Amino acid sequence: MNDLYDKLYSDCTLCPRQCRVDRTTGQLGVCGCGASAIVNLTMLHRGEEPILGGDKACGAVFFEGCQLRCVFCQNHDISRRPTSKGMSLNSDELASKYIELEAQGASCIDLVTPMHFAPTVAQSIRIAKNKGIKLPFVLNVGGYESVSTLQLFDGLIDIYLPDLKFYSSEVSSLLSSAPDYFEVATKAFAEMYRQVGPASLKDGLLTKGMIVRHLMLPGLAFDSKHICQYLTDTYGNNIYISLMNQYTPMPLLNNSLPAKLKESLSHKLNPRAYDILIDFLCDMGQTNAFVQEEGSDTSDLIPNFNK
Ligand code: SF4
Repeated sequence: MNDLYDKLYSDCTLCPRQCRVDRTTGQLGVCGCGASAIVNLTMLHRGEEPILGGDKACGAVFFEGCQLRCVFCQNHDISRRPTSKGMSLNSDELASKYIELEAQGASCIDLVTPMHFAPTVAQSIRIAKNKGIKLPFVLNVGGYESVSTLQLFDGLIDIYLPDLKFYSSEVSSLLSSAPDYFEVATKAFAEMYRQVGPASLKDGLLTKGMIVRHLMLPGLAFDSKHICQYLTDTYGNNIYISLMNQYTPMPLLNNSLPAKLKESLSHKLNPRAYDILIDFLCDMGQTNAFVQEEGSDTSDLIPNFNK
């Protein structure tokens, strides 16, 4: 690790939480992680959008910890509680994992929630490319990102795969303690789009571009409609939109939520509400979109992080 990277961890402002802790001495910020990248799992993963995997699987690398810490997180086993079951890997070791996944037949390297380790991960991609890896790199993130940290990946990432989770400041404040989520995420998207440009496909697979995911939450159709409207107005069919219905009620990690919101989140999504949202997106002329079949709201889609 060079001095510049050390500095980024020792006064950490890598994400919008701006904790300013010294992670090199064991101080922890909101993400709960020190200065070593922790990977919980690497696997060939078939759960991603078809233009990422095609007939093959994505080479997924799941990092532990997260700066967003949503109360309904489907991956809370690794996102909220670094498990100590993960592997601490430096940039060279991470690069070797990517090369192993390529040898196993992966279609791309899918880096899942890596931004709190951005300096190490950016360096690992550089190393893997110098060693001849040919696969596209996908940055799979929660959307609450700093533009300056995204700039560490300029020229290294082929495909951005961010979430756009919330529109309303009240909702993002209650569910992720991030009242500025929408404002921050939309600025981050502008930087991602600047780096990769409009979606470009070859043989049915995305080679460059953005897929923005939105997980529709029960009882929050208003938020979802605003998000679809924003994305179509701003990017239209230059990006892909992936509307997800797989919300699975988990034990909520915040007991002080308003009763009505808590009640909504304790149920699966109403299929009718999801259909209405799909119609709304189509009516706005969005053709580059993915939707999920009914029955996707199952914990079967959550990888087994305890392996
Ligand atoms: S990466 Fe972690 S420590 Fe750094 S600012 Fe974000 S939450 Fe805080």
